[in-house]
Amino acid sequence: MKISTVVVLGAGSAGLMTALTLKRKLPHLGIRVVRSPDIGIIAVGEGTTSVFPRHFFEHLKVKPQAFYAEANPTWKLGIRFAWGAKRDFYYTFAYEFEKRQPELSRNNGFYHDPGQPWLGNASAFMAHDKVFPRRPDGFPRLHNNHAFHLENVTFVGWLENRCREAGVEITDATVSAEPGPQGVAALVAESGERIVGDLYVDASGFRSELLGRLLAEPFLSYADTLFCDRAVVGGWARGEGERIKPYTIAETMDAGWCWQIDHEKRVNRGYVYSSAFLSDEAALEEFARKNPKIEPGQTRVVKFRSGRYRRSWVGNVVAVGNSAGFVEPLEATSLQVICVETSTLADSLSDSQCDPPPTLVALFNRFNGEQWDDIRDFLAVHFRFNKRLDTPFWRHCREHVALHGAEPVVDFYRENGPSVVAGISLLSPSNSFKMDGYIALLTGQEVPYAKVHQATAAEQEHWRRRRAELAADAQQGLSPEEAMAALRRPGLKWG
Ligand SMILES: Cc1cc2nc3c(=O)[nH]c(=O)nc-3n(C[C@H](O)[C@H](O)[C@H](O)COP(=O)(O)OP(=O)(O)OC[C@H]3O[C@@H](n4cnc5c(N)ncnc54)[C@H](O)[C@@H]3O)c2cc1C
Repeated sequence: MKISTVVVLGAGSAGLMTALTLKRKLPHLGIRVVRSPDIGIIAVGEGTTSVFPRHFFEHLKVKPQAFYAEANPTWKLGIRFAWGAKRDFYYTFAYEFEKRQPELSRNNGFYHDPGQPWLGNASAFMAHDKVFPRRPDGFPRLHNNHAFHLENVTFVGWLENRCREAGVEITDATVSAEPGPQGVAALVAESGERIVGDLYVDASGFRSELLGRLLAEPFLSYADTLFCDRAVVGGWARGEGERIKPYTIAETMDAGWCWQIDHEKRVNRGYVYSSAFLSDEAALEEFARKNPKIEPGQTRVVKFRSGRYRRSWVGNVVAVGNSAGFVEPLEATSLQVICVETSTLADSLSDSQCDPPPTLVALFNRFNGEQWDDIRDFLAVHFRFNKRLDTPFWRHCREHVALHGAEPVVDFYRENGPSVVAGISLLSPSNSFKMDGYIALLTGQEVPYAKVHQATAAEQEHWRRRRAELAADAQQGLSPEEAMAALRRPGLKWG
């Protein structure tokens, strides 16, 4: 059936990003979003990857000015991991480990030095708490090779405004689903109104009202790899002299890990843990003890399960966001997955002239399933090799985390070291972490490998100079506070 109207159930980031992407790419579609003021939105989810600015600014052609002014983001150049062996390391979006300099015989990964863990501009900027290079006129030299930190509620408000501007209709109603031959016949509001469309997007969050509850699509659990199932979240108002960090911190905790995300006025933290190893009370106690600034009485516990539904497009229902799958936010990938899901949906509709045949739907399902599995595999490496703490949880992870698709990558690394060659055949072309990401995590955690490269004296000298130059460049850069102030000054030319 030709699709001309789409009903989106849910107005969290998943529902509104889907509505906006479809409306921008297929303006002739009638799009109506239905959301429940009683249920509300999840109100967590603060980190993105570099897929996010590309999706909005390059793919959807959203104006960055408006985004900066209303969504009030801070920048994220990557993740600083307090993880693995004794020393912290950096994960960036710049693929620094696979790069090869003409003066050197091997790619950068072979020269990783845990004492000075920067190999390129992005990690050097992170190591010096700087965010953008400084132009001669004092403005930041902006690029899209970064991600953002966003407050979920503010971001969702910004999305709602963009959707309304684009002509998306938004209705407040708590609905139930009426089954039909294609899957859903209508969404029925408490008032009795029947809301009907040709395609239903299930963006109802963890409730998965249409795909999970109504259609009973099987859920594929990731519990043999990812043992965490809860998070306690909290934060504090940024104090005088507390500088904004241009990266997320992921810190090893007794039974999981803790994020730190710096917003302009707040610092937010969240302890992701396994309820099999830690009670909620003990998690709250450890969280508060290690973060004495956490505002008392302002913490809350969020429960989740890691995994994905077998298919996300079934009949006339396509699930997007938490209703399709979820993994803990260690690499902050949920908004990235939503970007990919929504653009793939728009491309599928556009390519089939809004009449998608079964082979296209099957391809959509395979592609989306694989992207979730790729994330699970990459996270496996984080848990299997973290030696920072010797607690029952981490001992269990080191012994029992199933590596799945990461297994051949790790085997290759153990024999060949941080070579990028394996990425060509062991990872799918759409794997966003690439071999570079694996090498960042494996070298960062100091996982041993057989063929250690002995750098020549000339290579060592090259790296000594290169690291010093990178550090000097970074020191000249703008701090997040300086970059923010510059963006608010009149006269900036947006690229
Ligand atoms: C602890 C934690 C940390 C996270 N951190 C990150 C992160 O750093 N980065 C990241 O990318 N993601 C993160 N996420 C994931 C984040 O939640 C999602 O990226 C994102 O916000 C998508 O949410 P959603 O729109 O799917 O669901 P929600 O925000 O829950 O929205 C669901 C919508 O459906 C509506 N709804 C549900 N049922 C009905 C009904 N019957 N009738 C009408 N309306 C209904 C609700 O009212 C709401 O509007 C995190 C998640 C958790 C749990």
